[in-house]
Amino acid sequence: MILAGLRLYELENLMQKLKATKFRAKQIHNWIYFKSVSTIDEMTNLSKDFREELKKIAKVTETKIKKKQVSKDGTIKYLVEYPDGECVETVLMRFDNRANLTACVSSQVGCAVNCSFCATGKGGFKRNLTYQEIIEQVLTIQRDTGLKITNIVFMGQGEPLLNLDNVLKALEIFNEDFQIGARRITISTSGIIPGIDNLANMNLQSTLAISLHAPNHNLRKEIMPIENRYNINDLKKALKNYIDKTGRRITIEYILIHGFNDTPQVAKELAYFLKDLKCNINLIPYNSVIENDFKKPSNNDIMKFKYLLEHSGKKVTVRLERGADIDAACGQLRGKNI
Ligand code: SF4
Repeated sequence: MILAGLRLYELENLMQKLKATKFRAKQIHNWIYFKSVSTIDEMTNLSKDFREELKKIAKVTETKIKKKQVSKDGTIKYLVEYPDGECVETVLMRFDNRANLTACVSSQVGCAVNCSFCATGKGGFKRNLTYQEIIEQVLTIQRDTGLKITNIVFMGQGEPLLNLDNVLKALEIFNEDFQIGARRITISTSGIIPGIDNLANMNLQSTLAISLHAPNHNLRKEIMPIENRYNINDLKKALKNYIDKTGRRITIEYILIHGFNDTPQVAKELAYFLKDLKCNINLIPYNSVIENDFKKPSNNDIMKFKYLLEHSGKKVTVRLERGADIDAACGQLRGKNI
């Protein structure tokens, strides 16, 4: 049995079987989620005899770090390996001016959505991650660094809304067992409308982020084949419905690709498209992935684009480039190691 991923009540049930007190369950829970140990031997406030007994039937984890890259800016990228040999990427991001420690987690091995700017999409879809495998990514970071994660973004490999049950279960554990506030958790989607409709009907406090990347059908379908399945106008209706039902502001993610979707004309079209949506906009200057010809926009074009959107009354941020000296773009590290 693997202990990582068990809820407090599940640990209490286990203690009952072992004829131990409920308090033991609380101690073990604390060792897993807050002290982030890798082995039962490290749970030093349990008696040696009890640890030996527990070791006969359980382990803390079987997840390993296959590869790790540390950037000069503090970003750490992990290639996490599960017992079946499949790997996903997970990233620790920190920003100098904030105390937040953000884990960018993957929800699937590979991805079927196949966005043309993404290295993960190129490798195709392998399988969904279980909720335990999702939370193991955060535990891996915590075990390796000794730090406690404060924020989670589902922006790693895979489409979270195509693995919604496991993502929601992981979200519940992040919230209740890791004690990470739901508002500090973001689910990012390429625009899977049935999944957005499901989220609209739940009373989640988490943030929904949409990878939009273009303001119209023709431009969007050039880089996001999912546009042929769920088109941008239907997506907008689903987003309006989500905002109406939840009252929550959404985040629009927009990758800026030089000469493709970073012109002033496109900025104005985007501002028009978003004018009646309650949203913030996050601009992400494209981070080169070796296998294609897309280019980074110039700083001047980024600023002009930002200005035009702000002029329309939206709050716009430009995502700081993290991990520029490592394989920071989604799928790059896994791509080099499989
Ligand atoms: S960007 Fe996200 S949704 Fe698109 S292919 Fe990559 S992992 Fe999948």
